[in-house]
Amino acid sequence: MYYISSSLERIEHVMRDLYVAEDLGVSLDNEGSREYAKVSYPIRYGNYARIMDTDYIYQFNLSGEIKFIQGHTSAWPGNEWLKRTAANDWVYYSTEGYSSVHSLTGEYYLPCFSYSKNSISAINPFETATVKKALNSLENLFVKIGRLCEDSAPREIRPFFRLVSRNDKEKLRSRSDELHEITGAPLTVLPPDTRHVDYDVIPIIIADGCLYNCGFCIVKTKQDFLVRSRDNITRQIEHLKNFYGQDLVNYNSIFLGQHDALQAGADIIEFASVTAYEMFQFKNSIMKGANLFFFGSIDSLLSSSEILYESLNKSPFFTYINIGLESADQESLDILKKPVTADLVKDAFRRIADINRRFERIEATANFVIGSMLPENHRSSIIDLAGNSSNRYSPKGTVYLSPLDNGEAVREIRKNIYRIKNHSRFPVYLYLMQRL
Ligand code: SF4
Repeated sequence: MYYISSSLERIEHVMRDLYVAEDLGVSLDNEGSREYAKVSYPIRYGNYARIMDTDYIYQFNLSGEIKFIQGHTSAWPGNEWLKRTAANDWVYYSTEGYSSVHSLTGEYYLPCFSYSKNSISAINPFETATVKKALNSLENLFVKIGRLCEDSAPREIRPFFRLVSRNDKEKLRSRSDELHEITGAPLTVLPPDTRHVDYDVIPIIIADGCLYNCGFCIVKTKQDFLVRSRDNITRQIEHLKNFYGQDLVNYNSIFLGQHDALQAGADIIEFASVTAYEMFQFKNSIMKGANLFFFGSIDSLLSSSEILYESLNKSPFFTYINIGLESADQESLDILKKPVTADLVKDAFRRIADINRRFERIEATANFVIGSMLPENHRSSIIDLAGNSSNRYSPKGTVYLSPLDNGEAVREIRKNIYRIKNHSRFPVYLYLMQRL
């Protein structure tokens, strides 16, 4: 017998095609937004399935893997939620009371990571009882679904319940290893621009290592720079197609890793992006458009060919290239042990502005660090570039600031961001490093 408990009665108003199994309300074919948007309420993208019980709404991707958890009782903090990444990390989306998150990050939610070294939140949500309880609730949900899928669940939802049962916590844990085996390395950091697609990118590594191996950097792989072969890239794309499986139709964006894909050159960037576009069938994606993200360095940017930008500008992708500059002050570069000169940093900043001006389907962005160990000249060097190098405001060429201090210095970090933002002719936002 199925019944609708009193607290589930209202589900009927919010869920389409509702099925009920014990105290679970289930709807299979939910359609979220087809375009990425910046909104101050929980938004879901693409197609997904949903299970609701007395405390939580659980959302599943088309492969039957849990992707979101959101509480719906008064104990849950408002419009906040938990999102699980393709590499099985949970990320907590905090509104921080909607006070300053948007002006700091360009988004209405602050992503909080369980592993973060450059958090600006004084509280780690993963240490709160509310978030722990929500994550622990999955155990019971999987047990219940496993029991229901064989007998008492409505016939229409049994295949979905079986799919979810196959993706229990153990299976999900192994997904991270599986993904990194395919790419041949863990993805230690995503470009800040991937926020525009809620970090839903398919990673393909086209080159390992980086040119500088800077002393301050906590995400470097310590390898020498080496471009992957076309065979290796094609193999990754084939395996990624299987890895994302049924849910692939919900994706329209790729990240070409690792830390300096720009240095791999025009041919290999074009080969990887075109092959991925075709093999992932982005043309048929539920999500509109297509996006390409990668990192570049000062040297790779300054030596990059015009042909690359012309070809990217004509491709089906909107391309975001993020360049690590860190500082335009020589003393700070020396402290950071970044082996480049301040003059080259300034040249790179000018080149970024030039690309943004000339190619409408490309945005090149810049990263700088902020931290208490750097001298006053560091901040003024960024203000000088972002505020005085152009006489008009530009919506492209975002300047990202990545804190080297952690949560204990939250107030100072925020003050520093606003000081730079107030002078800048370019958008200025915080960069919190998310891995995949
Ligand atoms: S900041 Fe960039 S170039 Fe420097 S070590 Fe890290 S990844 Fe490599």
